[in-house]
Amino acid sequence: MTHDPNCLFCKIAQGQIPSRKVYEDDQIYAFHDIHPWAPVHFLMIPKAHIASLAQVDGQHEALLGRMMTLVPKLALQEGCNPYPEGGWRVVTNTGAEGGQEVHHLHIHVMGGPRPWFKG
Ligand code: 5GP
Ligand code: ZN
Repeated sequence: MTHDPNCLFCKIAQGQIPSRKVYEDDQIYAFHDIHPWAPVHFLMIPKAHIASLAQVDGQHEALLGRMMTLVPKLALQEGCNPYPEGGWRVVTNTGAEGGQEVHHLHIHVMGGPRPWFKG
């Protein structure tokens, strides 16, 4: 598995920088965002360093499928209300014009009662 020694989220996935864990398996780590936009706001990342969604291809199908299918379970576990009255938002900012600040692929999962703090 490839890591970038200068990457913040590689360090978080490897436990070198502390975070509030939501979920972990052999390929995926999820943790609470340090500046939440919503009552529930966590990030899901691959443990391997992938810079953004712009770098994914066929070899990542299973990984991305696993991440996306984990969203409902983790969103409800972390306090999002059930669909359709509740729900959540999934966002992956990609590149400068996409608003990406941390260049390690991550999925934002935001939810909980309105109003949110941002967005
Ligand atoms: P982006 O703008 O790249 O889509 O999102 C990066 C997210 O990472 C932001 O929402 C920001 O609050 C979060 N973040 C940045 N640094 C840290 C950190 O050290 N710990 C945690 N838990 N979240 C962080
Ligand atoms: Zn990384």
